[in-house]
Amino acid sequence: MSLSWGQLSGQLVENSLKKRIPFIGEFELTPRCNLHCKMCYVCQDSSNKKIMKEERTAKEWIRLAYEARDAGMLFLLLTGGEVFLRTDFKNIYEELSKMGLFITLFTNGTMITPEIASWLGRIAPSQVEITLYGASSETYGRVCGNPDGFLRTMRGLKLLLDQSINVQIKTTIIKENMEDYDRLVEIADSFGLNLGVVNYVAPRRDGNRHSPIQERLSPIELATFEEKVSMKEFTEQTNLLSDKLSELQSDTILSHSKDIAKYKKQQDLLIKDYYTDNFPCNSGKNSFWVTWDGKMVPCTFMDSPATYPFEKGFQTAWEELKKSCNLVPVCTTCQECSLNEYCQSCPATLRMETGSFTEPAPYLCKLAQERQMNADKYMKYGGIFNEGICETNI
Ligand code: SF4
Ligand code: SF4
Ligand code: SF4
Repeated sequence: MSLSWGQLSGQLVENSLKKRIPFIGEFELTPRCNLHCKMCYVCQDSSNKKIMKEERTAKEWIRLAYEARDAGMLFLLLTGGEVFLRTDFKNIYEELSKMGLFITLFTNGTMITPEIASWLGRIAPSQVEITLYGASSETYGRVCGNPDGFLRTMRGLKLLLDQSINVQIKTTIIKENMEDYDRLVEIADSFGLNLGVVNYVAPRRDGNRHSPIQERLSPIELATFEEKVSMKEFTEQTNLLSDKLSELQSDTILSHSKDIAKYKKQQDLLIKDYYTDNFPCNSGKNSFWVTWDGKMVPCTFMDSPATYPFEKGFQTAWEELKKSCNLVPVCTTCQECSLNEYCQSCPATLRMETGSFTEPAPYLCKLAQERQMNADKYMKYGGIFNEGICETNI
């Protein structure tokens, strides 16, 4: 029996979850960025000398990647800040790409030149994800402090697509760019791409909570925005589905119904298993994040629990992280909350919002209430964006 890549990777992910293998890694190579987005939770000035000194060297990242690969890592995300600000990025990427890993790059796209695109085209990553912060120079000026960013991002996007690189685009919606959403969808359509949406804007990870929170949508604004987007997607998907169904013979569908039921049951069991854990995701189970200054943490939004892979070696740090994740306390109020199907609460979001793993977060509570009201109103699924929370707002 042959397997498709989707089936094979699904089985590998499932296996790594069961065996707690560090299958998915994320390296945050720098916090420095040439943009200064108002909602960014990590960025530092591009020429900050102190930060540059504290960043881990290319040699250290490459050695860590070898150790992680030997421990089971197959998928690796390289992110920042802006990765192309590192003068040694080419060296890092070329070495990592020889290791047989599936690499994804997150970038703001502004630093992609014809030379960089053609270099990347020769050793293409599995995927490049570019975030669009607005649909005009004016919005880039307001959101990122750099009006040139818009045209430079558009240029970067085209250059990568010209090299046939697999590019995905997404946006982070805040007050300053909310009005651009429809235009962003049109831009995505013009490239034949879908537009992903990161809907959760976290406080800064370094504890400076002011800026990103001030810029993000209020719970009512966010729930209303989600409603608008989900109605649009819902209509499109329903139309697509009814087109597909009308093409199929009903006996063909019936012949697969048993398999579908079996698969669904397996999936439900798996999901139930994840959700009874203290992390409702694969953080600390088969995935890890390494911060620019060398801490291994469960995910991008967490600064604790942390272990130290550059000092202790990858395997020891991973073993310690897994143990520490098991000790992260569960918020009992959230566990028993009737709204949790509408809520993005998890150890990371609670900690970012309240400073504690066990305190319900007022912002999330209000958002969940708004989503439930909308869901009741339209009698349809309200948590359509929940999977978006694990996207970084990079
Ligand atoms: S959100 Fe991304 S592009 Fe914007 S400042 Fe932060 S790292 Fe840079
Ligand atoms: S954060 Fe609030 S709404 Fe969300 S699960 Fe916890 S108590 Fe419920
Ligand atoms: S934000 Fe929460 S759900 Fe997402 S990866 Fe982090 S811990 Fe998991």
